[in-house]
Amino acid sequence: MEPYAPGAPVAAGQIPLAVPEIRGNEWRYVKDCLDTGWVSTAGGYVTRFERMVADRLGCRHGVATVTGTAALHMALLVAGVAPDDEVLVSALTFVAPVNAIRYVGAWPVFMDAEAVTWEMDPEKVAAFLDRKCVWRDGALHNRLTGRRVRAVLPAHILGHPVDLDPILARARQYELAVVEDATEALGARYRSRPVGHLGDVACLSFNANKIITTGGGGMLVTDRDDWAARAAYLTTQAKDDPVEYVHHAIGYNARLTNLQAAVGVAQMEQLDAFLAAKQEIARYYTDRLAGVAGVTAPREAPWAQSSWWLYTVLVDRTAYGRDSRALMRALGEEGIQTRPLWHPVHRLRPYRECQAYRVEIVDRLHEAALSLPCSVGISQAALERVAGAVERLSKSGA
Ligand SMILES: *Cc1c(COP(=O)(O)O)cnc(C)c1O
Repeated sequence: MEPYAPGAPVAAGQIPLAVPEIRGNEWRYVKDCLDTGWVSTAGGYVTRFERMVADRLGCRHGVATVTGTAALHMALLVAGVAPDDEVLVSALTFVAPVNAIRYVGAWPVFMDAEAVTWEMDPEKVAAFLDRKCVWRDGALHNRLTGRRVRAVLPAHILGHPVDLDPILARARQYELAVVEDATEALGARYRSRPVGHLGDVACLSFNANKIITTGGGGMLVTDRDDWAARAAYLTTQAKDDPVEYVHHAIGYNARLTNLQAAVGVAQMEQLDAFLAAKQEIARYYTDRLAGVAGVTAPREAPWAQSSWWLYTVLVDRTAYGRDSRALMRALGEEGIQTRPLWHPVHRLRPYRECQAYRVEIVDRLHEAALSLPCSVGISQAALERVAGAVERLSKSGA
């Protein structure tokens, strides 16, 4: 593998966690936008990008948005999630999907992660729906809060798919929408189906540190014609008569620009190479760290193919000789950037009062997890430096 992309904001000798790889037709396509004046939300690259992503996932429609968070917000709106409804979401995720639930006035109900994959626990989701909810007036209601449960929002964290079939079966049984947060999992597969084409609607992110980037951006993908049309309408200010400025709904200015989509098209052309590089990085680390006591490599379930977005290990304080945060600091002193997983969302100030159903292992994962540098363009020398440092800093490596 080659060294970092030129221009990536990385100081000499530093190994960043994840920086974008800009090596394809990005310049050419952006120049095309600038030369032709198609810089804003109308323009050929937006539709081309939407088509490329939707085709890749096997979805009928893609609607490009200004961020992944906006895609989640729009997805919940088109899925019919209404104020005071409830949405099931894992407590171990980036906060964005949970915030999106609040944007539409609904409430999160936090679910636990599952111990092997660290993804939303399908057994606990099923147990919550079967035991803690009741079917009344043609809809499912939470016995504790009395609120209507409207949707499940599985976030495929770190690129590994959620075990979704049991959740999809319950969702059908109880008439719940399934909104996939696939922002970290572009290219991942679940039982050989593409992640992002498992539920009713899925969301992607093209933020700078995701699998592919447009600088900032997102997309909602779905098979439903009406939901896609509604999303396109809502993201462009809900224009019913664009000449006379008639709006029958409250719209949003949430459309991706042609300039960004141009970068996205160039990035999509490289997606397979990016995924192969991510997989190779994961394989290298897993092999190299297998002998380090107290470091547990991430596991891919037999039914899963991860996008390996952020390669994340668990550090056992006793066996390793220091905890994940001490390791983070020690690596930082050597110019190696690492990062813990997100603070459990049900413990964040805006969400402390929300219901958390048997969330038992998220805290342990949060305490032990550390993501290692895994940019698509990371060099072999950098990988060796990281793995060597993790080995050397362990109890037995000193
Ligand atoms: C990045 C991310 C988002 C939000 O995407 P943005 O494009 O940054 O708005 C949502 N959910 C998860 C799990 C993410 O990692």
